[in-house]
Amino acid sequence: MTKENTKQIGDMSAAEFRKYGHHLVDWIADYLESIEDYAVLPKIDPGEIKSSLPRQPPITGESFEIILSDISKIMPGITHWNHPGFMAYFNSTSSGPGILADLLSSGLNVNGMSWHTCPSATELEELTLRWLAQMLGIPPKFWGIIYDTASVSSMHAVAAAREQAKALFFDEKEMNQTNYSLLRIYCSEQAHFSIDKSALTLGIPEEGIKEIPVDEEYRMIAEELSKAISEDRKNGLLPFCVVATVGTTSTASVDPVKQIASICNKEKIWLHVDAAYAGTASILQEMRWIFEGIEDVDSVVVNPHKWMFTPIDLSAFYTSKPYMLKKAFSLSAEYLKGSDKKEETNFMDYGIQLGRRFRALKLWFIIRYFGIEGIRNRIREHIRLAKMFANWIDESEHFERMAPVHLGVVCFRAMPKSVSDGNELNALNEKLLNNINSSGKLFLSHTVLNNKYTLRISISGIRTLEKNVKDAQLLLQNELNKLIS
Ligand SMILES: *Cc1c(COP(=O)(O)O)cnc(C)c1O
Repeated sequence: MTKENTKQIGDMSAAEFRKYGHHLVDWIADYLESIEDYAVLPKIDPGEIKSSLPRQPPITGESFEIILSDISKIMPGITHWNHPGFMAYFNSTSSGPGILADLLSSGLNVNGMSWHTCPSATELEELTLRWLAQMLGIPPKFWGIIYDTASVSSMHAVAAAREQAKALFFDEKEMNQTNYSLLRIYCSEQAHFSIDKSALTLGIPEEGIKEIPVDEEYRMIAEELSKAISEDRKNGLLPFCVVATVGTTSTASVDPVKQIASICNKEKIWLHVDAAYAGTASILQEMRWIFEGIEDVDSVVVNPHKWMFTPIDLSAFYTSKPYMLKKAFSLSAEYLKGSDKKEETNFMDYGIQLGRRFRALKLWFIIRYFGIEGIRNRIREHIRLAKMFANWIDESEHFERMAPVHLGVVCFRAMPKSVSDGNELNALNEKLLNNINSSGKLFLSHTVLNNKYTLRISISGIRTLEKNVKDAQLLLQNELNKLIS
């Protein structure tokens, strides 16, 4: 087809697509190869990027050459999540096979709402989620679906839990605003705020969310959960859901899933496990303990876009009661009705979303390219590096460790002998973090533990190597020296 012909039907010609596609792939390869030349965090003010670009959209089309060259205009405002010095939050790094899969997904552009709107999208999602479950030790009775994020996965868990509560506590017609206000959901005070958002989204009032205290290692205290549930029952309230966290946001602590599951099973309460970050570690035999008791929970979420080198977004959600999820979400329109064959899965019946992009492709490419052993080696190395860093903290006279280290996260703070006042220490650590993050070499985040301002390093990036962690140690020491000398 000539360029003129394609212009008539609208799209870029195949020749042009090929040419600029190659340019763009070259650009990405160069970018990833030289990523350490960039500062991890952009040094710009709000509004700068917007004001550097035209306010009006172009009336006539622009050449793709010019469009590509303008990537340079947005680079100053890019936070480099792929940078090996990005050790803040829970990092999400992309990998070659993941990036290529996303490209193919856009090229195919299927919408996997139901089996018949794209059988391969549906079946590859079923297959890759089965693989992932096997890799992580999630038993075969769990049924999986891909959502975009853990926040959305957890919202669906809470909706399924509420559906189960309806079936247990009420005649369906009776489920109204008054008895919604009686529902109670429990999580630890270290749980992710997406759980609160899930509850709020579903009409559970704020007082319906109960925070359970944690022990000195930031794990939910199962006895406290038990107490809170019986007290609420005595007061006529309706406990319907518990969320245990495997790998909390602040310290990556692991709630005792097995103990919590035995309480929930006895009480007929849905147990959801939020393992968005840490679930991937269960791929290691020596880390399987984080999922001890998983066979007795109702649902679990793991985000491959956190620690499995998958470009954002891909959240894997598993439940042993898919019929509850389906009951909560299956409505349809005549024009989407399939053949009603029992063996076909229509993922649109299991969530709020109708249109669904082909995310399973990236899981398929990534698992095949790295292999189980390849993923294991990378995860094991990250945990080793976190322990190496923790050792360094423990041996340093100027730093103190703030929480146990089991996974890729270390919580710590500077505690030089010259400073003993709590407020001064908090201020010093805040200053240290700001200086580190404006260095461009390293990006760390912080949390507050028992009123102590705490620095947090998270090692999960595919490009983060021992050298980068050693550089981080050196930078921390140097920046602290500057502050206390
Ligand atoms: C990251 C994280 C979330 C939120 O994940 P999104 O995919 O960004 O919604 C929820 N819970 C835990 C424990 C997390 O680590």
